[in-house]
Formats: sequence, structure tokens, C-alpha cells
Amino acid sequence: MLARFWGTRGSIATPGPGTNHFGGNTSCVELATASGAVLVLDCGTGARLLGDRLLAATPGPISAAILLTHTHWDHIQGFPFFAPLFQPDNHVRVYGPEGAHLSLRDVLAGQMEHHYFPVELDQLAARISYQNLREGTYEIDCARVRAQKMNHPSPTLGYRIEADGRSICYLCDHEPYCENIWREGPPPVSIESIAEEGDRRHAEFMQGADVVIHEAQYTPQEYPSKLHWGHSTYQYVVELAALAGVRRLFLTHHDPSHDDEFIAGLERKAQELARSLDSKLEVCCAYEGCEIAL
Ligand SMILES: [Zn+2]
Ligand SMILES: [Zn+2]
Repeated sequence: MLARFWGTRGSIATPGPGTNHFGGNTSCVELATASGAVLVLDCGTGARLLGDRLLAATPGPISAAILLTHTHWDHIQGFPFFAPLFQPDNHVRVYGPEGAHLSLRDVLAGQMEHHYFPVELDQLAARISYQNLREGTYEIDCARVRAQKMNHPSPTLGYRIEADGRSICYLCDHEPYCENIWREGPPPVSIESIAEEGDRRHAEFMQGADVVIHEAQYTPQEYPSKLHWGHSTYQYVVELAALAGVRRLFLTHHDPSHDDEFIAGLERKAQELARSLDSKLEVCCAYEGCEIAL
């Protein structure tokens, strides 16, 4: 299995010289399995480039599954620009969480309504299906996909995907359940000792994963002024991943106000923290074009 980042930015696309390294496109990760299945994790603006590459690299019809964590703009704005949707013979299956007052299809159609976009959803030429997901386990192409709710202002699912004998978690967007950066005093020494049940469940979900991709939009210093916006700090994510025995952690969904220099500093702090926890966890900040061979 190969994972490739096409969008690493949270909230809004942030192009410019200050974001050239870590990237300005919003959330999108491609997963390619050994059998040739293509899973697209979120459809932020990075999905435009992914769609173009799929068209260029695939001689016949394209079959792809899009797994949306939720339908905030930075996770769906690339959908109307995903070129495989415009060609007949292609087959795209879209999955996302149920729980909004509209169906997944209607939410996606809303952003393509003529006030916002010149092509309406029904005009897309590809064969497209939509399926609302809830917590549970699904077989999608040759992958086993587990979905679990996350703590975010909109109904949001995290995914744990197992294929080719490997496991990868994609956890965007999520805020600690415990407001006080999930604890006071020293960090817990095991998953069982995490005080808040939701955080314990979140750690269990990533337990033993080969790779975890997790949002880490804020520093611990920024977090108190961003309560209930639905995002994590690198400290929370690194501590949880270390307790969960994760091998490799990729921090993503970078804040639009963080330039490359700032994110490189955040990465160093996250790596220092991981080393101090006496774990085998390797951590880095994801950048556009970054590839993970599993
Ligand atoms: Zn987001
Ligand atoms: Zn969101």
C-alpha cells in the first residue's frame, strides 16, 4: 500500500511562497493498494491534482472510492474539480458520515448549486454512487475500513484502513474530548489511565497501526483561544499515538496562519516530545507530495 499527500492544509487553501514546502492545498490523501484499488481520503483542493494524475496515468476507465471524513469546505472543495467525475465510463463511489440534516449527495450538490459553481452535480458524466456511513466496519474494494466518530462540530468519522497486511489511520478533524488538553498533571502511562473515555477510545482506535495520519492544527499555546473549533494540538496527538504503540505518525491539516518555518519548528517540538516519551514513535509533519510506503 502506498499513501501520497495531495493536500496538507486545514481550513482554507493557503498558496504562496511561505507555504511552498508543506503545501497550500487542503486535505486530500491518496491510498493505492497492491491490487490497484484507489482510495481518496477527503476531497480538499488537493484532489484536483490527484484527479489529473489519475487521468494521465490510467489507460482505461477509472474506478475510485472517495472517503470523506466530513463535509466542511476544506474536505470537499476539490470534489467539483476532480476530473475523473467528468468522464463517462469512470466509476466513483463516495462515502461519508451520516448525521447531517441532508444526505451526503445533497450536501455535495449544494456546493455545486449554480450560485456557487457552473456545473451541477447531476451534470457530472461519471457513474457516481453515494453511501452514508456510521460507526462500523465496511469492505471497500479490497480494503477493510473501520469508521469511528470523532469530536468535531460537524458529524465526522475517522477511518482505519487495512489492506495488503498493513494498517493506516486517517484522523481529520478531531479535538480532544478533555478540554484541558485532556489532562492535568503528568501524562498517562497507558491507554487505560486516560481519564476521558472519548480520548481513551480515540487512542484505542489507532492502537498498533503502522501509520497514523492525524490533524494537529494548533500548538498547546494556541489551543486555549480555539476551544470547540474541533482541532488538536501536536502534544495531544503525539502523546496518544505513543501510548497506542503507533510506529509512524504524520501530522497534517496545518493551520493557514502557520508558514513553512513555523511548521518546521512545530515538527521539531513534536519530535522532541516523542523522544522524551521513551517510545518508538517516529513523527513528522506531512508535506504535499510526501509518500508513505507501507
Ligand atoms: Zn478541516
Ligand atoms: Zn472540519
